[in-house]
Amino acid sequence: MILKDKLAILADAAKYDASCASSGGVKRNSLDGRGLGSNEGMGICHSYAPDGRCISLLKILLTNFCQYDCLYCVNRASSNVPRARFTIDEVVQLTLDFYRRNCIEGLFLSSGIIRSPDYTMEQVVEVARRLREEHDFRGYIHLKTIPDAAPELLQRAGRYADRLSINIELPTEQGLGALAPEKDGAAIRRSMARLRVHIDDAKGEARDAARIPIASVPGAKPARAKAQAFAAAGQSTQMIVGADGADDATILSTSAQLYGAYRLKRVYYSAFSPIPDAASALPLQAPPLVREHRLYQADWLMRFYGFEAGEIASERSGGMLRLEVDPKLAWALAHPEKFPVDVNRAPRELLLRVPGLGVKAVDRLLLARRVRRVRSEDLKRLHVPVAKVLPFVLLPDHRPAPQAAVTAAAARPAPALQGALF
Ligand code: SF4
Repeated sequence: MILKDKLAILADAAKYDASCASSGGVKRNSLDGRGLGSNEGMGICHSYAPDGRCISLLKILLTNFCQYDCLYCVNRASSNVPRARFTIDEVVQLTLDFYRRNCIEGLFLSSGIIRSPDYTMEQVVEVARRLREEHDFRGYIHLKTIPDAAPELLQRAGRYADRLSINIELPTEQGLGALAPEKDGAAIRRSMARLRVHIDDAKGEARDAARIPIASVPGAKPARAKAQAFAAAGQSTQMIVGADGADDATILSTSAQLYGAYRLKRVYYSAFSPIPDAASALPLQAPPLVREHRLYQADWLMRFYGFEAGEIASERSGGMLRLEVDPKLAWALAHPEKFPVDVNRAPRELLLRVPGLGVKAVDRLLLARRVRRVRSEDLKRLHVPVAKVLPFVLLPDHRPAPQAAVTAAAARPAPALQGALF
C-alpha cells in the first residue's frame, strides 16, 4: 500500500480521538468546484500548546489494526474497515516533511493494539525517540499511551512527549465492563497515577535544579544543571458520551474525581458516533452534539469557576444538563435566592457565578471597584455582555425587575446558535 493511502486510512481512523477537540463546526468542502478549501479532511487538527498558542498537529494512528474489540470503536478487531500500518520510519518522515513544509507544529500519535500492549507502546515511544534524539525535533508531541503497557515504557514516553494521555473511555466501570471488556479500569487509573508521580517528580527536580547556583569554571561558559523533563504539558483523557447509559451527573462526577486524583490538564468529551455493523448494546443514534458542548461548559465551571460537579448536575435535577441553556445560567435560574448579586460588595466566588461574567471580567471588576463604585456604564467599558449580566446584578443605578432573569433566559437564541456563554 502506498504511503498516501495509508495516510488517508490512518488519519481518518484517528478522527474519533477528541483530544484535539474541534468538533461541532459546519462541514464545508469545495468538491463541487466552487469555493476554496475544505474542513472535512482528517489528518491535521488544532490543539493548544502549554503557552496558550493554537498549533496544528499531524493526528494519526500508527496502525488501525487492533486485537481488542471495544464495541464503540470503529477500529475494533471485528470491524470491517480498511486496515493499514505505518512503519516507525514512515511516521518520523511524515512528521518531519509536514513540519518542514510548515503544515504542522507537532504530532499527535495514537495506535490500535497489535501483538501486545508493550509491543505497541514500544513502537509509539520509538517514533518519539527517533524524532527527538536522531532528528532533534523540537515540535510538540502528544502520545496516546496504552494503560496496560509496562510502567518503564510509560516513563520513557514521558521523556519525549510534551503531553501524554490515557483514555478513561467510559464514565463508569460497569460501562467499561459492558462495552470494552478487555480494558481494565483499575489499570487505567494506576497508569494515570504513575504519570502523575513522574510529572510531579520532574517538576520537583526542575525546581531543585533552578535553585542550584550556576556552575562557573574559569574559562568555561556558566551552566545550570538541567533536570529531565517529563510530559511538561501534563496528561489528559477522553470520555465517550452517550455510548452507555451514564447521565451527565455521573460523567461530571467522574471528571471531578479524575481532576482531583490525578490533576489532569483536560478531560475531553467525545459524543459517541454510531459505527457500521454496531453491536446491539450500542444506541442507534448519536447523542445531540449540544450535550457534548454543555459538558465542556460544565467542565469549565468546575475547573475555573469553583462549581462542584453535584451543583451543576445531580440526581435531583434528573442527572442531565439542560440543553436549551448553558449550565451556569441553568444554575442561576435554579437558585434565585442567590441573586441579584451586588457587584460592588459580593466576593469573587459569587461574582463568578453571575451568568455573563467570566474570570477576566470578574478580576477587572474587582480592580475597578477598589477605586470607585461600579455602575452600568462601567460594565460596558469592561466589555461585559451587559444584557446577559444585568438581570442578575445590583448596581447603584440598576436594580433588576423580579423575574428579569427568567424573561432574559427565555429570549435567548436556540442552543445551536448560542455563542460564547461565559
Ligand atoms: S483498544 Fe483502542 S483501537 Fe482497539 S478497539 Fe479498543 S478503543 Fe479501538
